[in-house]
Amino acid sequence: MEADRVYNFNPGPATLPLEVLKEAQAEFLNFHHSGMSILEISHRAKQYDEVHQQAKADIKELMGLGDDYEVLFCQGGASQQFAMIPLNFATKEHPGNYVLSGSFATKAYKEAELLGVGEIAASSKDVDFRHIPTQDELKINPEASYVHLCYNNTIYGTEFHYVPDTKGVPLIADMSSDMLSRPVDFQKFDFIYAGVQKNLGPAGVVLVVAKKDMLAKSPETLPTMLRYSTFLKKDSLYNTPPAFCIYMVGKVAAWIKANGGLVEMEKRNQKKAKVVYDAIDNSNGFYRGHADKDSRSFMNVTFRLPSEELEKKFVAEALEHQLSGVKGHRSVGGMRASIYNAMPYEGALRLAEFMEKFRKENA
Ligand SMILES: *Cc1c(COP(=O)(O)O)cnc(C)c1O
Repeated sequence: MEADRVYNFNPGPATLPLEVLKEAQAEFLNFHHSGMSILEISHRAKQYDEVHQQAKADIKELMGLGDDYEVLFCQGGASQQFAMIPLNFATKEHPGNYVLSGSFATKAYKEAELLGVGEIAASSKDVDFRHIPTQDELKINPEASYVHLCYNNTIYGTEFHYVPDTKGVPLIADMSSDMLSRPVDFQKFDFIYAGVQKNLGPAGVVLVVAKKDMLAKSPETLPTMLRYSTFLKKDSLYNTPPAFCIYMVGKVAAWIKANGGLVEMEKRNQKKAKVVYDAIDNSNGFYRGHADKDSRSFMNVTFRLPSEELEKKFVAEALEHQLSGVKGHRSVGGMRASIYNAMPYEGALRLAEFMEKFRKENA
């Protein structure tokens, strides 16, 4: 069974650490002597509370954040955060400022635009989102309530390699596809969120890590479940949380800690990304990377082949080599290899070797 597992390059839901899956399997039928599985247990039970608190503590420890930050578990995907952020923080006088660096960044902006509270601070759309806007390209309104970025652009395969200076305007980042993949100066951010199904767990929960004073700002006129202040006051337990997802996120956070934390994750992720990008760069133009080199993502490697026929053939033959999920998003075309924390180096190496073999056979 285990030998039948493929290297899963899907963008999300995505590969999870095998050790974590096995642990969940081993304690599935009788969780911590409760006589029940974690799926069946009350979210008010002591056994669940331990899971909830440990997950929060481990995440904050990994990020190096203190008591001024809180970890929330929300629902509705990262997509619902696109709406909740402007609802909670932006007004017409103090709009949200958006850096458009790809699809999800643009979707986030569109929600603010619907509410009449969105402004564009920078965009790389004119160059097909091949690069991350630089500090000099950012036009931040000093009256803005926040600046919103998408730190890693899952579809285009670009990633921020700097933390923008917003001149005191609160900084919000969608880190859905690179959360806990490397050390970042998280204290420079006021609000970070991540749909966990990319790098941290199964679909169903959105992690929010934000300054408590920011979370307390929600207008009282908003419906209860749309207010961050509700999640803050009730420790994300106002209603029934997605307990199983939070349990899995907790296990992944513990796995990251046990494997050397974010410093080690970064080392591994850089090594994996290098072997795949080298296969592109050493292909005499057979493979063409989408992202500009200085904006390349460590998480999602996007590239094209000389023709769509070859791209189809590549996907089919990759699967015969137990390399699954390499087809790119329809808006970019071509290939995308997602190499999140849980992808072992062996998987990236196997992909690079396959790329080399495929090029020799088809160039
Ligand atoms: C996948 C993704 C989203 C959307 O997440 P959902 O949880 O499906 O709503 C948003 N932002 C980024 C960067 C993503 O990769």
